[in-house]
Amino acid sequence: TPAFANIKQLPPDPLFGISARSKADKRSPKVDLVLGAYRDNEGKPWILPSVKVAEELVKADPSYNHEYLAIDGFKTLTVAASKVALGAESSVFSENRIVSSQTLSGTGALHLAGVFLSKFYTGNISSVNADTTISSENRSKFYVSKPTWANHIQIFDSQGFDVKTYRYWNDASKTLDFEGYLEDINNAPSGSIFLLHSCAHNPTGLDPTPEQWIEILNTIKSKKHLAIFDTAYQGFASGDLTKDAWALRKGVEILDTPIVICQSFAKNTGMYGERVGALHVVLPETNEPLLSAIASQLKKITRSELSNPPAYGAKIVAQILSSPELSEQWNKDLVTMSGRINKMRALLRENLEKLNTPGTWNHITDQIGMFSFTGLKKEHVERLAEKHAIYLVGSGRISVAGLNENNVEYVAKAIDETIR
Ligand code: PLP
Repeated sequence: TPAFANIKQLPPDPLFGISARSKADKRSPKVDLVLGAYRDNEGKPWILPSVKVAEELVKADPSYNHEYLAIDGFKTLTVAASKVALGAESSVFSENRIVSSQTLSGTGALHLAGVFLSKFYTGNISSVNADTTISSENRSKFYVSKPTWANHIQIFDSQGFDVKTYRYWNDASKTLDFEGYLEDINNAPSGSIFLLHSCAHNPTGLDPTPEQWIEILNTIKSKKHLAIFDTAYQGFASGDLTKDAWALRKGVEILDTPIVICQSFAKNTGMYGERVGALHVVLPETNEPLLSAIASQLKKITRSELSNPPAYGAKIVAQILSSPELSEQWNKDLVTMSGRINKMRALLRENLEKLNTPGTWNHITDQIGMFSFTGLKKEHVERLAEKHAIYLVGSGRISVAGLNENNVEYVAKAIDETIR
């Protein structure tokens, strides 16, 4: 039939494909280090105590209902979320330089950013007026780190961006290719878009040092590029919301072009499936008409795509952020999660060093956040799955949250056996 005559079967999403293989494996012990979701020491999903209490309070509120939110979401959430990202004292607020929209978690924020920028970002175009439409040749170059979270590429590719990479991970030294990174910022056409991971880079777990960040941001500024900060791990990385926001806030201080922030609450509240997130656009100076025009266009996109964002998780996060006691509990929960992950990093490294496993393993504890780029090669990953029922991504990335006191020694021994 002519309908769908051109359709092709796609392979499963690489990540979810490995996950499915892991789920189907009934051997014991089995270790799943694929998906980026926090697990407690028993390997179970964890409902944060702050979330549990907030959820009860939300439901006990006499005005609780299931009405629609506004097109741009729950304002109590988006305002509080912007303050989590930027710090309540930021001049961005006193100078009225920010517009926020609730999104379908971090992915939705990235998608909304992509649609918005594909329509309106004129950074690479030399002469522009209000009638300029952005053809695909005119569209700004779009740069993501090599490697990056695989979804980044398809999110922006699907909005017609020609997605290119900037150098990031030096495979030989397992460190940042800082020179290559700066060179690629410099070589990109002025007004390009650079997607930056605010903290806990996925998949490498490797972040620039503060000194390196300052140089990166100044180089982006000198080339008048636009920065998108993907903030998916604030508080989850170090346990400290302020510390994990350092690079983002430095960006807002240094850059003199608009900044786009894509914020997810999936990891730092453990509410992966509730899809709580926000997109923030920060202007370098007060410009009320521009801010208002941006807000109107964001609403138009959201209206046609999802009408209005989901309410339940938004109310829970808003409850946490507007209560000092719950915020304090949330901060403790962040320390619990990041602390356990860091302990697992230390234990994995310790076990590998105890076994004299060939290679160096300091990178495991130098890296931060959910993931570690182990340096294991494709054939190692395959052998770990086949022989030891240990599942990780083909790039050698492990989700450290999948490790616990019951399996870390088993994993270290299996890695040792595999690479010897
Ligand atoms: N950005 C990065 C770097 C991520 O790792 C993720 C999730 O894995 C996200 C964004 C978006 O996650 P979500 O859409 O669940 O908020």
